[in-house]
Amino acid sequence: MSYVTHLECAKCRHTYSSSEVYNLCACGGPLLVRYDLGRVKAAVTKEALAGRVASMWRYREFLPVEDDSNIVSLGEGMTPLLKTPRLGKAIGIEDLWVKDEGMNPTGTFKSRGAATGMSKVKEFGLKTVAMPTAGNAGGAWSAYAARAGVEMVVVMPVDAPAITMKECYAYGARTYLVKGLISDAGKIVGKAVKKYGYFDASTLKEPYRIEGKKTMGLEILEQFGWEVPDAILYPTGGGVGLIGIWKALDELEEMGWIGSKRPKLISVQAKGCMPIVKAWNEGKEASEFFQGAHTLAGGVRVPKALGDFIVLKACRETGGTAIAVSDEDILKGTFLASRDEGMFICPEGGAAVAAAQQLRQSGFLGAHERVVILNTGSGLKYPEIIDVDLPILEIDEEI
Ligand SMILES: *Cc1c(COP(=O)(O)O)cnc(C)c1O
Ligand SMILES: [Zn+2]
Repeated sequence: MSYVTHLECAKCRHTYSSSEVYNLCACGGPLLVRYDLGRVKAAVTKEALAGRVASMWRYREFLPVEDDSNIVSLGEGMTPLLKTPRLGKAIGIEDLWVKDEGMNPTGTFKSRGAATGMSKVKEFGLKTVAMPTAGNAGGAWSAYAARAGVEMVVVMPVDAPAITMKECYAYGARTYLVKGLISDAGKIVGKAVKKYGYFDASTLKEPYRIEGKKTMGLEILEQFGWEVPDAILYPTGGGVGLIGIWKALDELEEMGWIGSKRPKLISVQAKGCMPIVKAWNEGKEASEFFQGAHTLAGGVRVPKALGDFIVLKACRETGGTAIAVSDEDILKGTFLASRDEGMFICPEGGAAVAAAQQLRQSGFLGAHERVVILNTGSGLKYPEIIDVDLPILEIDEEI
């Protein structure tokens, strides 16, 4: 059983039954899952959590699956939250931490959303799921579809990271490449969904992936002994993770597990694709389609996000900000974490490192604040961003 009461539109607050299959609200807004948090509170304590399984399913009462037999899991979540003193010293933040989502199945935090999303697909008895992806979501959803025995259709940009295409293929998904962006892939999926009746699992057109990503917020809090950090930097594409963390904190406060303090939520984008940062700088409540999107951090190459207005609101209400960094700084950030801490982070994580450095320099982040960088994936998924000619020795040569 779950403690879900209903679905609620993030835009107009209209409510829907959680026992039926929905994508978006009639108004076009994304749907959020609502719980009877009083009953969650009665069912679980902080102490009870301590002895549970080391995956995101330790937060079972906070998750939307009715029947345990429908849970589709590959052991996602409960990733390390590591203190990074050498990196912290390099960028001038003493109490710096990295949440390493690269340790998840399929190498990114996308597995959290795929786990809850695919569990609900199984629970609703849906047969075929289709989604556009920048790469990593396709890999994750294909893996969980294989695990669930569901058919998966994926459309991704032709220049998405090669490994993500191979992953989808290896997991048996029907995988298509498009000469365009994730937004172009989305249009193709939209037509296929209408034509064949596939379930559309596009970012935020599916209410349950936020619930999986929300567990990052629950974990960060549990790993800090329920002490709220001062800031969290999040590389933002569709913004699902940031929205999820924000939602987790609200639920924890409503249950009385934390107070009203919030970490400054900081949305990090690349200068070559910064719709949310642009909207932030212009004081707007929503973003516009960003023309000519390009960055080597493919996970954040999303020219228009359905949940942009929620991301902007979360940054505003927590005293956070939105900041864009250059591809050059993204690479520097990636190498900094690798060389100072032995963490081969993804370029999206590198963007968050670069942003932390710049926000420290501008004084937005204090030297003694507790700051968390979300490394959303493993650098192992991006071999092509490291362009190096290593010395090749003759067999009898010395070094
Ligand atoms: C998808 C992705 C992001 C962006 O996540 P959203 O929830 O869409 O904002 C960041 N980093 C990586 C590695 C990703 O795959
Ligand atoms: Zn609505």
